[in-house]
Amino acid sequence: MASHLLSKSSFIKGLQCEKHLYLYKYHYDEMDELSDMQKAIFKRGTNVGELAHKLFPGGTIAAQGDPPNYERALKRTKELISSGAKVIYEAAFMFNEVLSIADIFVMEKGGAKLYEVKSSTSISETYINDAALQYYVISNLGIRVKDFSIIYINNQYVRKRDLNLEELFSTESVLELILPLQKLVKENVDRFKKVILKKKMPDIEIGEHCYNPYTCGFFNYCRKHIPEDSIFDFSGMHLAKKYELYRNGIIRLDEVPEDYSLNKNNKLQLEVHKNGKPLIDKKAIKNFLSDLNYPLYFMDFETFQPAVPLFNNSKPYQQIPFQYSVFLKKNKNSEADHFEFLAEPGEDPRKKFIESLLKVTIGKGDVLVYNKTFEITRLNEIARDYPVFAYEIKKLISRIKDLMVPFQKKYYYAPEMKGSYSIKAVLPALVPELSYDDLEINEGGLASIAYESLQTETDLMFIAEIKQQLLEYCKLDTLGMVRILEKIEELIDKK
Ligand code: SF4
Repeated sequence: MASHLLSKSSFIKGLQCEKHLYLYKYHYDEMDELSDMQKAIFKRGTNVGELAHKLFPGGTIAAQGDPPNYERALKRTKELISSGAKVIYEAAFMFNEVLSIADIFVMEKGGAKLYEVKSSTSISETYINDAALQYYVISNLGIRVKDFSIIYINNQYVRKRDLNLEELFSTESVLELILPLQKLVKENVDRFKKVILKKKMPDIEIGEHCYNPYTCGFFNYCRKHIPEDSIFDFSGMHLAKKYELYRNGIIRLDEVPEDYSLNKNNKLQLEVHKNGKPLIDKKAIKNFLSDLNYPLYFMDFETFQPAVPLFNNSKPYQQIPFQYSVFLKKNKNSEADHFEFLAEPGEDPRKKFIESLLKVTIGKGDVLVYNKTFEITRLNEIARDYPVFAYEIKKLISRIKDLMVPFQKKYYYAPEMKGSYSIKAVLPALVPELSYDDLEINEGGLASIAYESLQTETDLMFIAEIKQQLLEYCKLDTLGMVRILEKIEELIDKK
C-alpha cells in the first residue's frame, strides 16, 4: 500500500506556511521541543476525544497506537466497513496520497456521518479547514458523506452529580461550510504535494503568519538570526508594527531611530534599555507605599482548569483554586510568618480552600496580591458557588491591594524586565537572589498541569513528590512579593 504524502496536520501546517510543511517533512528534528503545557493540551485532546466516543457506543477503534500504524489502520477501516460496522472510532482513509483519520465514523442508511471532536469551546476556522480536508478524502473514495459535524465542549454546562455527555458536548454540523471549500482543498493539496516533492526549502521570511493559527513549531529555528534585545522585545507593541520595523531592517533595539513613533511605554522601554539603568519614580512609589496598612498579608493562589468538570457545581475549564500561600508581616520590620494550603487531589478543593484562607487572613490589614483581577475573580466565583462564604469573601476582597501597580505603571522599571511587569520579570530585576531556576515546578501553568495529573494518580510516592514541588513553588511566588515590597521600601528609604 502506498504511503501518504500529506495528513490532516501537515495540511493545516501548509495552510499556515509552506516552509512549515517542508520543515515538518524534512527537518523534523529541528522542531522546537514541546513544552509540558503543550503536551498537556494534546493529552487533554485525546482524553476528550475518547470520552466523546461514548456518545456513539458500541464502536470499534481502527487506528491504534501513538502514532498509529497507518497501513494497519487503513486495512482495518476497510474491513470494518465491508463487514457492516456501524460505528468506527479513529477511522483511517487515504485518497490522492492524503491520509485522514476521522474521530467518529457512523454508517447509516444512505451514507456516513462524521464527527470530529475538539476539546475547545468553539469552532475555529482551522477546524473547518480540517473538516473540509476530511470530507475531500472520504467523499472522493466513493463514500457518501451525509453530514459532517464538529463536537466541542459546551462551556455553559454545569455538572450535577454524574457527567451528562449530551450536555457536556455541543454538536454542530459544518457540512454547509465545507462543501464550498472542496475546490480550494484540491488546489491546496496539489500545491502542498509539489512543495514536498520538490525537496527545496521554500524561501519564506518570518512574519505575522508564524503565530496563526498556532505558534509555529519551527519558531526558534526560523529566528536564529534574531539577536538578544531585539525589537520583538517591545512590550505590548502590535505584531504588525514589529514586523514593519523588521522588514525595514531594524532588528536590534539599538537600531530604532530616535524619531521613530513609539507609544509612551515603548519609548520608556527603549530609553531604559539604552541607558542600562532602572527608572525609579520615588514619589509615586512613596504614595503607593503610604497607602498600605500593616499587618500585611501577601497572598497567592494556584488553580487548575479541567476541561471536563470533575466536581459538582462546576463548569468546563472553570478555574478551581486548590492551593494558596500567605505570608503575614505584622509591621515593616518584622519577619514574615508563612501559612499554606494544598488540597488533597481527588476531592473538590474549593470549600476547604476558602475555609482555611478565611481563617488565616481574618482581621485587619491589607492583603497584597500580584495582579488582583485573578485572585478577586476566583474569590467571587467561590462566593457564587458557596454563598455561605459570600459575606466573608466580600470583606476579604475589600482589603485586597495590588503589588503589580508600581511596575505596571512604571514607577519602577529595569532593563532586565524587557517591558514586562509580570512577577517573573520583576523578581530577577529586584531580587535576583530568589530564583525559580532550581524548582521543578516554576510557573503557574505547570503547577496547574501537575495538580491535574494527580487527580487520577495512585502512586503515593509520586503524589508526595509533586505536592512538595507545588508547595515550594507557591511559597516562592509569595515570598517573592514580600521581598519585592521590602526592596521598594529600601529604594525609598535610600537618600
Ligand atoms: S516560523 Fe514562520 S516562517 Fe518559519 S516555518 Fe514557521 S511559519 Fe514558516
